Amino acid sequence: MLDQSRKTEIYDGYNRVMERIENARAHRFTGSGEVTLLAATKTVPAEEVLYAASLGLKVAGENKVQELTEKYDDLKDALDMHFIGHLQTNKVRQVVGKASVIHSVDSMKLAGEIAKKSIAMGVVTDVLCEINIGREESKSGVMPEAAKEFAAELAETAGIRLRGVMTMAPVCESSEYRKYFAETYQIFVDILQNTGYNINEPILSMGMSDSFEEAIAEGATLVRVGSAIFGRRAYGLGYTGK
Ligand SMILES: *Cc1c(COP(=O)(O)O)cnc(C)c1O
Repeated sequence: MLDQSRKTEIYDGYNRVMERIENARAHRFTGSGEVTLLAATKTVPAEEVLYAASLGLKVAGENKVQELTEKYDDLKDALDMHFIGHLQTNKVRQVVGKASVIHSVDSMKLAGEIAKKSIAMGVVTDVLCEINIGREESKSGVMPEAAKEFAAELAETAGIRLRGVMTMAPVCESSEYRKYFAETYQIFVDILQNTGYNINEPILSMGMSDSFEEAIAEGATLVRVGSAIFGRRAYGLGYTGK
């Protein structure tokens, strides 16, 4: 059972984030339409995610295969589950059929494996092309200049369905985020154009707790927010609630 004070923290966190999303959406510079809140639920116990679902949360994203598989049965009827972390090809089998969207596709080797396992399971898996917009060596994602060609290949691969683009902005001053998000938006639009606008309900996944308002300002259709809902993470111990 969740105690009342933890419920209050999640209730306040969730509602505050929803309010900030609505506000950012009303004042945005680029883009239109709805913004989906994906709750990044690493280290959050399933019962806390279910509580957030009871408040209206629709989508949860896991970034570790093990956490996805552990929580999947508890969460699958309450929420749509996405996979947002780095994915190794040898773990694709555990993710296909569970994650409705895989955000982190950055090589044809990985895409091919997702496609193969999807076909074998009789499903089509939605994928996003991850872009390394800050060109950081430590980060995954394709380089910005390679994104268009890579996305075209993804769009032609059977077993997967390209839905759009994901990026993780570099750690930077909040005033610098918009530049990275604006660049990502431009690539997203180029990809949509290049694929003949055949992408159904395109997703631009960008922005986290410290940057989701900047991301929405620059056209994000989905933001990935963890700590602003659940509190700061204490790795290994779950969220601390602060
Ligand atoms: C954890 C995580 C987030 C959310 O991070 P917060 O700073 O807690 O909002 C977003 N995207 C990915 C890929 C993550 O792993």
